[in-house]
Amino acid sequence: MCKARILVIEDEVIIAQDIQRTLIKLDYDVPIFVTSAESALELIGELRPDLVLMDIHLNDSMDGITAAEEIRRRDRQPVVFLTAHSDEATLTRAKITEPYGYVLKPFEERELQIAIDIALYRHKVELQLKQMERWLSTTLKSIGDGVIATDVNGAITFTNRVAEALTGWSQNEALGRPFTEVLRLVHVNTRAKADSLVERVLDDNLIIEMAPDTVLINRDGQDIPVDDSAAPIRDEDEKVIGVVIIFRDISARKCVEEKLRHLATHDALTGLPNRTLFSDRLAVAFELTKRRPNYCFAVLFIDLDRFKIINDSLGHLFGDKVLLAAAQRLGEDLRGEDTLARLGGDEFVILLSCIGDILGALHVANRILSKITEAILVDGQDVFTSASIGIALSGPRYERAEEILRDADAALYQAKAEGRGRFSVFDTALHERALRLLQLETDLRRTIERKEFRIYYQPIVSLANGCLNGFEALLRWQHPERGLLAPADFLALAEEMGLMTKITEWLLTESCQQLRAWQQQAPANTALTIAVNLSQTQFLHPLLRKQITRALASSGLEARCLCLEVSEDVIADQATAARILAELDELGVQLHLDDFGTGYSSFNMLQHSPIDVVKIDRSFVQPITDPASEKSAIVRAILSLTGELGKEVVAEGIETAEQAERLLAWGCRYGQGYHFAKPLTAAEAERFCAHSSTIRDQLTD
Ligand code: C2E
Ligand code: CA
Ligand code: CA
Repeated sequence: MCKARILVIEDEVIIAQDIQRTLIKLDYDVPIFVTSAESALELIGELRPDLVLMDIHLNDSMDGITAAEEIRRRDRQPVVFLTAHSDEATLTRAKITEPYGYVLKPFEERELQIAIDIALYRHKVELQLKQMERWLSTTLKSIGDGVIATDVNGAITFTNRVAEALTGWSQNEALGRPFTEVLRLVHVNTRAKADSLVERVLDDNLIIEMAPDTVLINRDGQDIPVDDSAAPIRDEDEKVIGVVIIFRDISARKCVEEKLRHLATHDALTGLPNRTLFSDRLAVAFELTKRRPNYCFAVLFIDLDRFKIINDSLGHLFGDKVLLAAAQRLGEDLRGEDTLARLGGDEFVILLSCIGDILGALHVANRILSKITEAILVDGQDVFTSASIGIALSGPRYERAEEILRDADAALYQAKAEGRGRFSVFDTALHERALRLLQLETDLRRTIERKEFRIYYQPIVSLANGCLNGFEALLRWQHPERGLLAPADFLALAEEMGLMTKITEWLLTESCQQLRAWQQQAPANTALTIAVNLSQTQFLHPLLRKQITRALASSGLEARCLCLEVSEDVIADQATAARILAELDELGVQLHLDDFGTGYSSFNMLQHSPIDVVKIDRSFVQPITDPASEKSAIVRAILSLTGELGKEVVAEGIETAEQAERLLAWGCRYGQGYHFAKPLTAAEAERFCAHSSTIRDQLTD
């Protein structure tokens, strides 16, 4: 170890020499002594002593204290004073220069040595501390993480540059502020405030990691995903005196994670979901079928026909471009909730996540089949391809989601076997029904233009004398191949296709006109009514009132001769129903409650509604002659209660004279059913009218 070098300043040469000798003996390096402060200051830079031994009282203009002051400021060498003066004033002045020691003359060798060694040691430690401080502050400034320190109250005491950049607050602005104001941390999705880090650290006195998915909202209001932790700062007694929070911007990492996730779940060529993601979505849809009984989804397995030939003859690169174009076409008209995925090669699947019926899937399949046959332009060359599609529909028979994919695949083979460029539905019964429905749909679209709808008129008669009271208009479709179709065969489909508005318009106009014509044929007919059925969509349609007013105006029919039949389930939503019924009532038309007894309507509701007539459902009427049936009691109860409410009753589905007699005996005034007449064509109904008016004439005579 090298010796400590000491510069001695002492104006008395003899003493100076003595000190020098003593110090050398004590094994210090003392190359020189000086007698004035000025020469000491001059020499010090060159000599670089480890310590300065300074006499306070010097014979020159500058005394030792002033010189020490200068050395402390300029050269930072430790100074030990050496003096005979121990008066208070001198000592106070000397103290200001923060000397490293103070040795009074005359001194013992040992005393001097101890003072020098302590001073040297203290200076060394101070240098180390300073170095450490510099090192720390450089580190804090240069690390890539944001660092914020707070006191126990959470007020900021330090921020580094990264923290300034990330939060948008400069250290000057941030100092003293509550750390939550500067470091605003929330959960990325819920936007809930991340629990106060500082408080938790203070409470638990532990290092705390931030919850994942935390974002920092910077001063501009932008989100920065961060990863952070907080640790307590302790004093020497281990008491917590603050918290240091370290956080870093992890946008880049998030971005990479997102990319990785995307890569793992998507097809590299087309960017479409791959089999993994498709399976996930399929599983979700499958779970939904368990929870919602009416939920139905379809899987379409699609395979490009002849793709292998294109690939082999024109090359893989070309083939890839064809696949890309095909993928784009397949996805064009899909809804956001559907999933188009590529399973590999030229195999694609579509998950139609919510469809009403097989029909929804057929529409998509048909659209794809026609789209995919349009020429695809690749590298200036028209490529023609077609697709085969296998369709499977979710249903209770499936126990696992993959079984549906398997069946769609099987249906695809079927489609290919049948000659490609077509679809096939798994399950033959379903397949046939699908084809029938599709055909029916095409036909139904043209029905109105082709005038294939017919109205059949079923008489409603007075049970007392068999006189005609009016008709119920019943819709039929005169199908060119399949003959006369009943509403059950096509009405639901027409509703789904949105054809009901047109049908209502036509039906109201036609039946009002027809009735008006019959009314004018004989005076006995003037009070005849026509009852028209309204489905829920018709009843709720905003145009209904206008359609009724128009039909009445164009036919000249009196409003009270038109009866609107709505069934109990149509008016299930009581608040809306009450409003619409009131509006219809204002038009002056009659309101009839159809199929009474099958739904949930209560007498209480009847009492407060403008309904004029209740039609007892035929499932109640037909068993009344069976002594074992309890239905007759119900029918009698209905009749007595409706009587009290002042409502008229029509019994539906009367097929025998006995039923008619019973009902009459119980006080029912009107009836309808095969016993009197089946639904009749207009010509038949006209004859029925004529016949009835003669009976009436006879009765009045
Ligand atoms: P609904 O309103 O209860 O009509 C009475 C149904 O019972 C008619 O069947 C009629 O042919 C049948 N029927 C009449 N008397 C008897 C009988 O003595 N015995 C038996 N077994 N049946 C009888 P349809 O015409 O097939 O109509 C079925 C349902 O379709 C109707 O039930 C009605 O809810 C609906 N519907 C019919 N036409 C229309 C329409 O123009 N618009 C709307 N929205 N629905 C209609
Ligand atoms: Ca009816
Ligand atoms: Ca009915």
